[in-house]
Amino acid sequence: MSIATQLPLDVATLRADFPILETTVHGQHPLVYLDNAASTQRPRQVIEALVDVYEHAYANVHRSAHYLAAMANDRYEDAREAARRFIHAKSAHEVIFTSGTTAGVNLVARTWGDANLRPGDEILLTIAEHHSNIVPWQQLAERTGAQVKFAPVSDDGHLLMDDFARLLNERTRLVAVATVSNVLGTIHPLGEIERLAHAAGALLFVDAAQSAPHMTTDVQAMNADFLAFSGHKVVGPSGIGVLYGKEALLDAMPPFLGGGSMINVVTTEGFTTARLPAKFEAGTPPIANAIGLAAALEYVEQVGLERIHAHELALTQYAHELVADLPGMRILGPAPEHKGGLISFNIEGLAAMDIAELVDQQGVAIRAGHHCTMPLHARYGIAGSARASFYLYNTREEVEVFAQALRSAIKMLRR
Ligand code: PLP
Repeated sequence: MSIATQLPLDVATLRADFPILETTVHGQHPLVYLDNAASTQRPRQVIEALVDVYEHAYANVHRSAHYLAAMANDRYEDAREAARRFIHAKSAHEVIFTSGTTAGVNLVARTWGDANLRPGDEILLTIAEHHSNIVPWQQLAERTGAQVKFAPVSDDGHLLMDDFARLLNERTRLVAVATVSNVLGTIHPLGEIERLAHAAGALLFVDAAQSAPHMTTDVQAMNADFLAFSGHKVVGPSGIGVLYGKEALLDAMPPFLGGGSMINVVTTEGFTTARLPAKFEAGTPPIANAIGLAAALEYVEQVGLERIHAHELALTQYAHELVADLPGMRILGPAPEHKGGLISFNIEGLAAMDIAELVDQQGVAIRAGHHCTMPLHARYGIAGSARASFYLYNTREEVEVFAQALRSAIKMLRR
């Protein structure tokens, strides 16, 4: 896969890496997998990395001196280095393996949050956040007496920056935003958000669940204090993710879960904590999944994140072209040139779930519901929406199949 970065993706070659894409749905339709914002599929390279570790290099890490343990340990720490490189962190000590984005948010809320927030402090989110980047902060607010505020979005799905700036004040301790909305597709202006948040004295938590798989992540360039993403959305295994934190912040935070590995010394009187990153990795970690994640990150790096983003943008624009004029169509979020690779929509008078079920009958996997963003859907006065989301292995032909399946579904439901 040493394809020059400026060339379009060789999707046919890439697709051959993903065995699951050969699935036939309902006995007759080739699978058209457009649920990538929920979870992507895995290439052979990742599956083989998982098989290889279990067949040749598996043991517990950090604890034993034997041959296999050393091998597993090396691969686990190599995986941390791969993740460090992927997000351009300064040090591998700043890379904590978690079970995913949700776990990363909860870790920071429980540790940094509990240690630092006081009654009257504020946490600023956007109304477009995923529940994973809302509920842990609401729980933190309940525990500490802090308050959660929400910056609004415009009718066409852009963050209203004047309101965002107005909501920031000297009580704001943390700003937590997604790089890309998982429903609107909006790419938030992170540079400006960072500048305003830090100028107000707040820390910045970046939810990169919807951007890490699709565009370059550089925690130093974005000056993020914390950042989290999930392996399963970036062709990696489920049950693994990364939390990045600036070393000084992580050092100052109390540990999260207690148990093995996170300690230095334990006596009957108490314990002292291990250094980073072990301090936040209590218990046996997801060893093989971390190694699988490294294979996944290497895979998308080789394909090229900029090329992946350009490919998805082209598919999203094409999808807009094909479905925007369907009768009753309401697309959520900004124009396609301003967003990530997805399209969320409603058809007037029809239930999103009925649409998703009918297009599934044609082999097209899309998602319907609130997509874990109830406050955002409430903002638009709707209970849910349907969403098609694209990735590096999707083709223009699949977008056409999706549009045709949607047309048929609408016709059938309107009968
Ligand atoms: N944040 C965003 C923007 C998401 O889209 C998702 C998942 O859809 C999450 C957080 C939660 O990710 P996970 O379920 O992998 O923890």
